[in-house]
Amino acid sequence: MPKLVSSKGTTRKASQEKTTNFIHGTVGRKITDISRRSKNLIFKLDDGGIILVHLKMTGQLVYKPDDSDENEKLVWGGHPIEESQNNLPNKHTYLIFKLENGILFYNDIRQFGYLLFYKNEDELLTEKHFVDLGLEPLSEGFTLDYLKLAFKSKKGQLKKVFLDQNVVVGLGNIYADEVAFAAGVKPERLVQSLSDIEVGKIYDSIKKIIKNAIELGGSSVANYVLADGNRGNYAREHRVYKRGGKPCLVCGTILTSIKSAGRTTVFCTVCQV
Ligand SMILES: [Zn+2]
Repeated sequence: MPKLVSSKGTTRKASQEKTTNFIHGTVGRKITDISRRSKNLIFKLDDGGIILVHLKMTGQLVYKPDDSDENEKLVWGGHPIEESQNNLPNKHTYLIFKLENGILFYNDIRQFGYLLFYKNEDELLTEKHFVDLGLEPLSEGFTLDYLKLAFKSKKGQLKKVFLDQNVVVGLGNIYADEVAFAAGVKPERLVQSLSDIEVGKIYDSIKKIIKNAIELGGSSVANYVLADGNRGNYAREHRVYKRGGKPCLVCGTILTSIKSAGRTTVFCTVCQV
């Protein structure tokens, strides 16, 4: 579908030129590498070209090997779609990649996802969204000194700085609240007001919570499935997320729920300062 390969954002228009570039740039090429940067999947092609895939709220990729019609041989990634269980392609299929030994389907119920083509990495990196992305929490560059320095240059509240993703990526609404709780800091605190000890606790909590969440396969609160078809198990580890009005698991105080940075934010008025 031209819209999905032409642009991203809320108002999107199909572009004939971008559709043509997508087809010319990808057909006949070999995928040499797949990686992830924040929520973007990056498929590298043998001539340096790049396909960027963002599944957004309802997208999924399904790989079906040529030699099989059996469901257990399918490889899933992204959000589950009922119709895709037994029927591929289906009415939610918008892109079909014929590969050497199989077929890769891009299915998306609401079509918020996108698959963009870039001639090379330089072109990809000129995207403002990419330039501004913060560090991956488990990468080498993400050190305590980095976080201290980054917080000093930011004016916003802790929750907003996390959601902005330009200091550190991967902390969405769920993990932002969980990290703030684990660190004993209110999500509304201005990051510039945080002491070195508090930043240290936040740093340790980010590492611990992200590592734990990855090991458990993520949170799956909405409808996410992993490549093996299983749902993530982190949801049962949540200590504050979606627990507004319930007692704090540490001190028993009723957890407070407010709107912060436009999102529901839950914290304990006693455990967090
Ligand atoms: Zn508490």
